[in-house]
Amino acid sequence: MLLSWHVILAETSRGNRLSSMTAIETKHSDSIEGQCSAKGMRMTEQRRVIAQVIESATDHPDVEELHRRAVKIDPGVSIATVYRTVKLFEDAGIVARHDFRDGRSRYEPVPDEHHDHLIDLRTGRVVEFRDEEIERLQAEIARRLGFKLVDHRMELYAVPLKDDER
Ligand SMILES: [Zn+2]
Repeated sequence: MLLSWHVILAETSRGNRLSSMTAIETKHSDSIEGQCSAKGMRMTEQRRVIAQVIESATDHPDVEELHRRAVKIDPGVSIATVYRTVKLFEDAGIVARHDFRDGRSRYEPVPDEHHDHLIDLRTGRVVEFRDEEIERLQAEIARRLGFKLVDHRMELYAVPLKDDER
């Protein structure tokens, strides 16, 4: 059972303090390459380059952006190879794909610990966060509905407060 929440912040609540929220720094205990070899996947040099590009990104890049960065390391990497490789990593559960409503699939390594995303609608910037209260509440809602929560995705679409105050 996937409980999926899509919350749109049409209006930002100002006096509302999020006490348990933490801005997070995503940790990965094992490299993409390490995970691939643990799963018995064959690693070519180009796959290694693409794995390295995904790993060093902090901004959830799409395939075109991954390709731009990969050719800086190896000019022989084609966009088709990037497509195939991210799909391969995704199917293996090593890389997560996101759709942040801009019509592009965006990628990040599957993190050790779950996090949620806030998308700045003005710039497209993605902010990662984790809020213990929200985590607890989601599990509680699923429980009340008669389910055990096993996974969720939450995306907040927002504009900067300063924009809103104009
Ligand atoms: Zn993320």
